[in-house]
Amino acid sequence: MNIESSINNDALLSYAKQLGFGDLHFKLDNSTGLFAMIAIHSTKLGPALGGCRCLEYTTISDAIRDALRLAQGMSYKAAVIGLPLGGGKSVLLKPKAIQNRSAYFEKFGEFIEELGGRYITAVDSGTNPEDMDAIAHKTRYVSSTTTGYGDPSPFTADGVFSSIQAAVKIKLNRNSLDGIKVAIQGVGHVGIRLAKLLFDAGAKVIVTDSNPQAIAKCVNEYQATVVGLNEIYGVDCDVFSPCALGAIINDKTIPQLKARIVVGSANNQLAEPRHGDALHNLNILYGPDYVVNAGGLVCACADFYKTPLEQVRKQVASIYGTTLSIFERSAAENVPTHTIADIIAEEKINSVSTKKLTTDKVA
Ligand code: NAD
Repeated sequence: MNIESSINNDALLSYAKQLGFGDLHFKLDNSTGLFAMIAIHSTKLGPALGGCRCLEYTTISDAIRDALRLAQGMSYKAAVIGLPLGGGKSVLLKPKAIQNRSAYFEKFGEFIEELGGRYITAVDSGTNPEDMDAIAHKTRYVSSTTTGYGDPSPFTADGVFSSIQAAVKIKLNRNSLDGIKVAIQGVGHVGIRLAKLLFDAGAKVIVTDSNPQAIAKCVNEYQATVVGLNEIYGVDCDVFSPCALGAIINDKTIPQLKARIVVGSANNQLAEPRHGDALHNLNILYGPDYVVNAGGLVCACADFYKTPLEQVRKQVASIYGTTLSIFERSAAENVPTHTIADIIAEEKINSVSTKKLTTDKVA
C-alpha cells in the first residue's frame, strides 16, 4: 500500500463534511501492528456504538471512507429505531499477519478507553466475540463479548420478518404471510433463520446461495425451491429479500425484478440513492435496509446496557411499527422510503441540541 499517494485529504474532508461529521481518531502501534481508526459521527442521542471491522484495504482512503460512511449509517439506524445511541464505527487495517491476536485487540481496547465512553465497539466483519473479550481487558466500552447475548443474527432476522409483514400489509393488503412467495438471496446466519420464520408462517420460500449445506437445510426443513445465483432477481414472487450482498439493487437487477416488495437484511442494498428512487417510481416497496436490519444493533445495545431479554424482544418487535410508518409516510408524501428514513433520522438527531453523554443508564 502506498500510504502517501492513497490519501486525498481534500476529497476525504469534503466527504466527511457532507456526511455531517463528527470526529475521526487514529492509533498506530508498531509493537502489535495495530493501525486503527475510530469514526464518531454523532453523540447527540448517546454514545456512539458501532462495530469493529478488521479487514485488508487497498488504500488508507478506502478505510477512512468506510469508517466515515458506516459511522453515519449507525447514527441514522439508532435514531430511526429510537435507541439511546449515537453513531460510530472502527476500522482496523488488517496486517498481513497478526502475530498476537489478543495483544492486538487489547491495544485497540486501550485506544477505545482513551475516548472515555464516547465510542462503544462491537463485532463486525473480521472480528468475533473472543476479540471483544480481549478488548474488554482494557475497557468496559465494548459489547458482543462471549458472555453477552452472542450472535445478533436471530434478532436481525426477527426484524426482517416483521418488516416483511409490514410491507405485505401495506402493499398486498394482507395480515398473513400464508402463501406469500419470498425469494431470499443468501441463507447465512440471517437468511436461514428468516427462511424458518417464513416457512412457519406459511410462506413459500425460494432461495439461492453458494453454500450447498445451507441450501440443503432450506430444502429439507423449509421445503424451499432453489434457483441459481443469478436467477434470484427475476423469480416470480411477492417479496425479494436480499440477505447476502450490498449494492444489489442497481441498473442491472432492477429491470429483472418481478417482486412488488424488496425487504432484506443486507447492508447498503441500493447501489446509489437513485436506485431507491427507481424502485419508488416502479411502485416497488423498498424497506430501508438500516431500519429493517436494526435488530442486530438492538441486540448489541442491550448487550452493553444489560437490558433484559424481554425488553430486547419488544424493541425488535417495534421494527414492525417503524417500517409501517415509513411506508405510510412514503405513500402519503409520495417520497421514496429510503429518503423518508433519512428524513426521520435527521429530524431526530437535529431535534436534540446537546445531551449529557452517559453510558451508565439502562437503555
Ligand atoms: P453470512 O455471511 O452469515 O451469510 C451470507 C450468506 O450469503 C452466506 O451463506 C453466503 O454464502 C451467501 N452469499 C454470498 N454471496 C452470495 C451471492 N452472490 N448470492 C447468494 N448468496 C450469496 O451473513 P449474515 O450475518 O447472514 O448477514 C447477511 C447480510 O445482512 C450481510 O449483508 C450483513 O452485513 C447484513 N446484516 C447482518 C446482521 C447480523 O446480525 N448478522 C445485522 C445487520 C446486517
